[in-house]
Parts: sequence; C-alpha cells; structure tokens
Amino acid sequence: MSIKKRITVAVAIICLIPVLLITLTCRMIIEYHMQSIATVYDVETDTVTVLQNPMLLYANLTRQDYFDLRNVTLYDSEKLDDTAYLESVNEQLQEKYSFLVLRRSTDVIVYCGDWNTFGQMRDNLPAFGNNYVNGEIGIYISGNYPTLIKQLDYISEDGVPYSLFIITDVNNLLPQVKDFAVQVVISFLLILLLTAVLLIVWLYQSIVRPLGVLRVAANLIADGNLEYAIPIREGDEIGQLQKDFEVMRLHLKDMNDKQLSHEQASRTMLSNVTHDLKTPLTAIKGYSEGLLDGVADTPEKQEKYLRTIYAKACAMEQLVDELSFFSKIDNERMLYNFQTVPIKEYLLDCIDEISLDLEVQGITLNFTCSCADDVRAVIDPEQIRRVINNIIGNSVKYMDKEKGEVTLRVLCDKDMIWITVEDNGSGIKKKDLPHIFERFYRGDMARGTKKGGTGLGLSIVQSIVKDHGGAIEANSVEGKGTAIRFSVPRQQDAAAQDVDKEAGKRKLWIKS
Ligand code: ADP
Repeated sequence: MSIKKRITVAVAIICLIPVLLITLTCRMIIEYHMQSIATVYDVETDTVTVLQNPMLLYANLTRQDYFDLRNVTLYDSEKLDDTAYLESVNEQLQEKYSFLVLRRSTDVIVYCGDWNTFGQMRDNLPAFGNNYVNGEIGIYISGNYPTLIKQLDYISEDGVPYSLFIITDVNNLLPQVKDFAVQVVISFLLILLLTAVLLIVWLYQSIVRPLGVLRVAANLIADGNLEYAIPIREGDEIGQLQKDFEVMRLHLKDMNDKQLSHEQASRTMLSNVTHDLKTPLTAIKGYSEGLLDGVADTPEKQEKYLRTIYAKACAMEQLVDELSFFSKIDNERMLYNFQTVPIKEYLLDCIDEISLDLEVQGITLNFTCSCADDVRAVIDPEQIRRVINNIIGNSVKYMDKEKGEVTLRVLCDKDMIWITVEDNGSGIKKKDLPHIFERFYRGDMARGTKKGGTGLGLSIVQSIVKDHGGAIEANSVEGKGTAIRFSVPRQQDAAAQDVDKEAGKRKLWIKS
C-alpha cells in the first residue's frame, strides 16, 4: 500500500474506529444499565426516557410503598396513629432515598422521618387536597433542595384532615446513571488510547522501521561496508526507495570491485613491465660491454652482438609503444584516421610484413578470403594493422606445436567484414577465456612462461575494434588452438560516393 493510501487509511481509522467503538461500547453499557434499572426500579423504559425524565425512576422507587400506604389511608387509617408502624415504613423508604412525613390539619407535623432534609423544604409541602393530582408519580419540587413528593390525604374518624407524604431526595444521581457516565468516559479514553497505540505501531512498522533499516545501511556504506543488502518490501514508495538504494549499493560495490581489481592489475602490470624492460636492458648492457671491452674481437662476433642489441632495443620499443598506446586509448585521446581500403589487398599487405618472421619461427601462415576483390572496408589502416599484428603475435607467442599454423580467414556480409585469426597453439583455459579482453589480464599459462607481455594487447585490440563499430570474440580449446574473430564495417555504395568525393583527404575523428 502506498504511503499516501496509508495516511488516508490512518486518518479514516482515527475518525471512524473510535466513533464506531464508542457507539458500540455505549450501546452495551446502556443495555446493561437499562437492564439493571428495569430490575431495580421496575421500570420498562428506554434510554431516552431515562435521560430525559429520570423522575420516572424516582417515582417508581416508591411506587409499591405508595400503593400500600394508600390502602392504609383508605381502610385502616388508625394504623397511622402508631409511631412504631410509621417508623418501620420510614426505614424501608430510607433505602430508596426517601422518608415519610405525616401532617395534621395544615401545619402540625405528627411524624417526620428525616428532620434535617425536611427542614430545607418544609415550606414547599403541598396543601391538603393535592393528592388527586399525579398521585402515584408525585410532584417535583425544585429549588435548593429538589424533591419528589407523593401525597396521600385522608380524614380521621374525628374529622381532622391528615396528609401523608413520601418525600424522595432527587439531589443525587441514581447509582446506575452515575456508573453509566463514568463508564462511558473511561471507555472513550480507553478506545482513544487503543486506537492511537494501534496507529502508532502500524505506522512505526510500515514507515519508521524500514527507514531506520535504510539509515543503518547508509551508515554502513558511509563506513565503506558495501556488503549489507537490505530486505526489499514491495508495493510502496519506501519499497521503491529500498530498491533504488539496493541498485545504488550494487553499483557502488561493482565500481569498488572494479577499482580494486584495476589496482591489483596495475600492480601486476608494473611488475611485469619492470621485468620485461629489465631483461632486454640487461642484455643490451651486457653486449655493449662485450663490444667496449673488445670481447667481440672478430667482425662476425661484433655484427652478432650489434644485431642482438638492435633486436632487444626493438622489443623494448614495442613494449613502450604498447604502454603509451594503451594510455592514449585509456584516456580516450585516440585519434583515428578512417579511410576506405580494398580489404583483400590490404590484408595481404599486412601479412606480407609478418610472414617472414613467422617463417623463421617455423610457423605456416595461411590466408583465405571469400570477399570480392573490390570490397572495401572503412578503417584506420594503421590501427587495424596493429590489431592483426597483435592477434597473430599472440598466436606466435603461445604456439607450442612443432608444426605451427596460423590461418587468416576473411568473410563478408552485407554490412560487415569478418576477419578470423586461427592457430593451433596452446589454446586458452576455459576459466581464462571470458577475461582475456580485460585490461592487464594474463592467462595462467602466459603468466607461467617467460614469454613476456603486459596483458594489454587484447584489451587494446578490443577498444580499436569497438571504435570502428565492430565486434570481437574468442573461441579456444585448451591444447588445440585459438580463434579470434573480429569485424570492421564494410563500405556501402552511398558511402563509396562520399569517399570518392573526399578522395585524398584524411578524415579524423576524436573518440568521444
Ligand atoms: P599478453 O600480453 O599476456 O599476451 P593479451 O591481452 O594479448 O596479453 O592476451 C591476454 C591473455 O590471453 C594472454 O595472457 C593469454 O593467456 C591469452 N591468449 C591470447 N591469445 C592467445 C593465443 N593465441 N593462444 C593462447 N592464449 C592466448
């Protein structure tokens, strides 16, 4: 659920749930008290009536006593001359917040069950003859001391008018009504508290907690720990944030890993380069000393020494050249001079240059081309020559067969020209194959031999091919040989016209 929805639901819960719960609870409390009121006061009534007219309840409290006393006034009024009888009736009435008063004539109080209370409302007693109005319900007397008065008038045998009063104190709330009010207030507070607690727990679980986890993860990343993967929740903005955070972490981790492996590779390369430069330098120094000291005392020997010095210097030059080229390509400062060249003629020219070298090493170089003679490629001839030399150079470097063989195959399709260099050399281990185009990567076998190399060759080759808009891939079987295949763009007809117009001009692109 989205945070927006969550907040809407929270607001709805805050508004609705307490109202619903309070209504329900009130209903239950009311039911309970109505039941209890019905039992205690013998009143079958509804809540509204009770709340609007609680006098009904007070009236019912003494209903039975009223009827009993009425019978006495009608049929046995002499009983009322007996104070003990009056006392006993009064005792019963006191349990119902009431007391008894007997008045003779208009103002002589013959009996009073509670002088204290009576003193405060004495003046309000109705006159003789009022009993027919509201007899069993009584009349309500307001003022400082509100009371409900039920009046029974009778005339004694000697003709004196008497009034008997049941006076009920309505100053206090009935216990049920009191309890009802207290319970409603407590329930209201409890329900509000419960709803608030539930909401806080829910919001904490769904918003605050995941944000806390994110904060911990962010702190870990700030401390350089990129391993902590946060659990991802689906379906809301926080889940999206977690996903983005995880993508960022993986990206940082990837960059970090790359940087570490780059640093490691740079260190390895530095030690390789040092070694590869030191070996020919030592030889050059040794042969030069031999010449200076006169050890090479015959012209043949001197020539041999000089040739060796020259060869070693060339090897060093190649190494330095490769390093400086790599630094150019690595810093993306490479300038290309693209031209259209007839591919077959161009490749034949390339292999012509190296065939002698291969022949000397006993390696046969084959060439097959299925493209027409006039097929032209759009390439920087110098750089593609570097690519071919590098790949064939590797075939020679890693050749372990007595009858070494290198084949250069050319295939054309509509847009591209595919060039494959295949050898029957040592092959590449399966685990090395996916990495051979990485910078500074050297296979196990290459590292184990004294063949030299920086691990930059194929990385440079790949960059050049990609800058030409081509692709490169390798296939190899350990012990049997390797095939490196790359493509360069073929000149299209329209492009041919453009190039013709531009004939002779050099085109330069700066790699971006
Ligand atoms: P290096 O300077 O080590 O030759 P490269 O980038 O040219 O670096 O090649 C990377 C690795 O690929 C080499 O170290 C080697 O293990 C492997 N490799 C490349 N070409 C061949 C091949 N023709 N035969 C066997 N192994 C090869």
